[in-house]
Amino acid sequence: MSKTAIEAMLPFFDKYYGNPSSLYELGQASKEALEAARADIAACLGAEPSEIYFTSCGSESDNQAIRSAAHLGALKGKKHIISTAFEHHAVLHTLKRLEKEEGFEVTLLDVHSDGLVTAAQVKEAIRPDTCLVTIMFANNEIGTVQPIKEIGEICRAAGVPFHTDAVQAVGHIPVNVKEQNIDMLSLSAHKFHGPKGTGALYCRKGMRLLSFIDGGAQERGKRAGTENVAEIVAMAAAMKEACANMPQNSAKLVKLRDKIIAELTKIPHSRLNGSMEHHLPGTINMCFEGIEGEGLLLHLDDKGICASSGSACTSGSLDPSHVLLAIGLPHEVAHGSLRISLSEYNTEEDADRIIKAVPEVVEYLRNMSPVWKELESGERKHLI
Ligand code: PLP
Repeated sequence: MSKTAIEAMLPFFDKYYGNPSSLYELGQASKEALEAARADIAACLGAEPSEIYFTSCGSESDNQAIRSAAHLGALKGKKHIISTAFEHHAVLHTLKRLEKEEGFEVTLLDVHSDGLVTAAQVKEAIRPDTCLVTIMFANNEIGTVQPIKEIGEICRAAGVPFHTDAVQAVGHIPVNVKEQNIDMLSLSAHKFHGPKGTGALYCRKGMRLLSFIDGGAQERGKRAGTENVAEIVAMAAAMKEACANMPQNSAKLVKLRDKIIAELTKIPHSRLNGSMEHHLPGTINMCFEGIEGEGLLLHLDDKGICASSGSACTSGSLDPSHVLLAIGLPHEVAHGSLRISLSEYNTEEDADRIIKAVPEVVEYLRNMSPVWKELESGERKHLI
């Protein structure tokens, strides 16, 4: 967590422990802090404070935005939703349930091999019964940034609500809900050095938002439950800091990222995933033929490098990442993936450690891999 964010939250565990919903003075101090946090978050997004709702995480924000638009659409007989095949599971699983349990029809747009969808695809998919378009701002695994403003424009012209999961974008690249024609937006504090388990949902004034947690009147009746004041204050502090430092953080990250990419792409039979033209500054996703991503991660962890592969380990079977499959990679290639997420707290030395460790581990794993032996002997064809 950002030191600024930690310092901002600490007084709310003792000095200002009052409940923001109570009338006594101590509670009012919490209430003021909550509203100041709302105003700060709104300012970072180009929104009004009254358009921000605090939630427990990015997943909750995604669920509320999608279910709300879906249920309001259904009241008008509109039960068609447009999304993409490479959304986060907070979106994909919500859509699956709406489809299975409530009879919605979901169109998942194909993602091009460069990790992008186009506004033209959205335009083509919109139907008279479309009640929602939900497309992520930036992909969490491959870091590609979608043409959000153009997609928003198409939706606005068609009168279809547009939600974006901006969990990976906020605090890293410029986000402005008004300029980018966004009706609803999800964010999560831990993606910009705020606390884990805190998020927010932006919902444009004039759009109806349904509540899914019933109880008290918190968040203007849209999300019951006593607010997590300390973490909300920390989220706002982290976001303000991330937005203020964005140009210099971004320049630093791009430099580190490109240095790592330049070296790791020298590894034979490797590939870099996702268009680098429309890309988050700190995300790298690569595939190495002939190895399993999990093995790579475990060996990197031994060397003190915390990375991920994007693969989900489900009941003992290793499923390749749905994102890599969505951009058209074959299973064999998608299995050998590595995702590195850099932050401004990373250093040149960290980059050097990655540059040294990854080729060593890839070589070690390939030497032990029966698949690699078959690739080298020509029994199996190289796919990269
Ligand atoms: N959406 C995206 C794109 C994400 O990357 C994540 C988390 O990694 C989420 C949603 C879920 O956020 P949270 O873990 O705060 O629920």
